[in-house]
Amino acid sequence: MSVSARTAICVLRCDLRAHDNQVLHWAQSNADFVVPLYCFDPRHYLRTHCYGFLKTGPHRLRFLLESLKDLRETLKRKGSTLVVRKGKPEDVVRDLITQLGSVSAVVFHEEATQEELDVEKELRQVCSQHGVKIHTFWASTLYHRDDLPFKPIARLPDVYTRFRKAVECEAKVRPTLRVADQLQPLAPGVEEGCIPTVEDLGQKDPETDPRTAFPGSGGETQALMRLQYCFWDTNLVASYKEIRNGLVGMDYSTKFAPWVLFELLWRDYFRFVALKYGRRIFSLRGLQSKEVAWKKDLQLFDCWKEGKTGVPFVDANMRELAATGFMSNRGRQNVASFLTKDLGLDWRMGAEWFEYLLVDYDVCSNYGNWLYSAGVGNDPRDNRKFNMVKQGLDYDGNGDYVQLWVPELQGIKGADIHTPWALSSAALSQAGVTLGETYPEPVVTAPEWSRYINQRPGRSAHPRGRRGPARPQCSTRTEG
Ligand SMILES: Cc1cc2nc3c(=O)[nH]c(=O)nc-3n(C[C@H](O)[C@H](O)[C@H](O)COP(=O)(O)OP(=O)(O)OC[C@H]3O[C@@H](n4cnc5c(N)ncnc54)[C@H](O)[C@@H]3O)c2cc1C
Repeated sequence: MSVSARTAICVLRCDLRAHDNQVLHWAQSNADFVVPLYCFDPRHYLRTHCYGFLKTGPHRLRFLLESLKDLRETLKRKGSTLVVRKGKPEDVVRDLITQLGSVSAVVFHEEATQEELDVEKELRQVCSQHGVKIHTFWASTLYHRDDLPFKPIARLPDVYTRFRKAVECEAKVRPTLRVADQLQPLAPGVEEGCIPTVEDLGQKDPETDPRTAFPGSGGETQALMRLQYCFWDTNLVASYKEIRNGLVGMDYSTKFAPWVLFELLWRDYFRFVALKYGRRIFSLRGLQSKEVAWKKDLQLFDCWKEGKTGVPFVDANMRELAATGFMSNRGRQNVASFLTKDLGLDWRMGAEWFEYLLVDYDVCSNYGNWLYSAGVGNDPRDNRKFNMVKQGLDYDGNGDYVQLWVPELQGIKGADIHTPWALSSAALSQAGVTLGETYPEPVVTAPEWSRYINQRPGRSAHPRGRRGPARPQCSTRTEG
């Protein structure tokens, strides 16, 4: 390597793509050798702050590994590769700078939340110690941060609709960046490194559940195929508004979230909210500093996360999440409302459980949506609460979704499946269901549910004489 050759290290994090990747694009024109680098940061495999779940569960881990393999293949076809290391990015970058001797720049996309910003700070320090320049770009939103009509970011509206109307009128989406056919070569002497397996990272490869609404695998190639399918092969996006509340199958929504390719405005909004509020998006009192007497009942929480609350619409969604790492937006809104408003549990329990499991986990979208559902975020309406029975009847009128995920209720036909506790003993026995034995009694019932039970012929809210919530019947755990 000549002394004057310029070498750039591109630190990739949530931007595992070649298309429209400003980091790779910049390095292509400003360096002679490029090291596209992904680090398995040990901090991503620690436990969540409050309730101690693994930060990265098996579904997302598999998705990540698939994404890395795919990116490596793509970069190889273009004359480069993806360098993979285990270690903190700041340590790996320091070692590479020392090894190569002549790194001219370290390049990365900026993130919005504290832990990611801390990594950026460390990288800046390493580079300043070694006299290496840093180049960073903002690229994780549809509308660029610098093009927002709100400056400084503290002026971002706290109501989403005001944000949407302003950006739609006053901001433009920047054009995407082309990816070169032939990329600059890897710096000589740099080992490619192995992509570990799920087992190498201490987890078990999850089995693919045939009922999944998310059969796709990770990686840019899959994302582009899905884009082709939704926009051109089927024109699915044209009917998005009519189908988006579906619950079963691949096609009721786009499934774009995990690829981070197609950010829409809600996604942008929550990212900008994170910029505006910093660490407050993780705080119990939320953005509004609201005092709520949240419970931390771990027995109730276990019922929720294991899909054993005795409320079939909630249980079906929670079981789908555990089995596949995916849940529809309709489902997420409902189970979040149930956890926070019906059970009154600390919203961070739910947020951390989602963090562990979701394939498309995104720190800003997840915490932003949970704050919103808990009534301590950006929702302008006070006390928004979903009615589980009404939602089940509206969006799963025939009970197909519950049938799919709660097989012990399969003997109950049609809409009745949503309210087994309201069925007569004879109807339950005919369906082969014994509440409290084959399926739990509801851990809670809300007064407003009865309106939708009484409406149906031959039903009353509590025909079996039960009034109060049942004792949870799921595995228990004491608060640690
Ligand atoms: C409690 C809760 C937690 C959530 N956690 C996440 C999360 O960790 N990661 C995540 O990407 N989304 C999250 N969402 C938002 C939404 O549920 C998912 O983006 C969506 O279900 C993913 O499926 P899809 O790609 O088929 O979405 P589609 O309905 O096809 O939407 C297309 C894209 O728009 C964006 N989008 C749509 N709705 C929202 C929304 N409410 N907030 C932010 N972005 C949105 C996503 O990027 C999505 O891929 C959460 C919602 C709730 C209520």
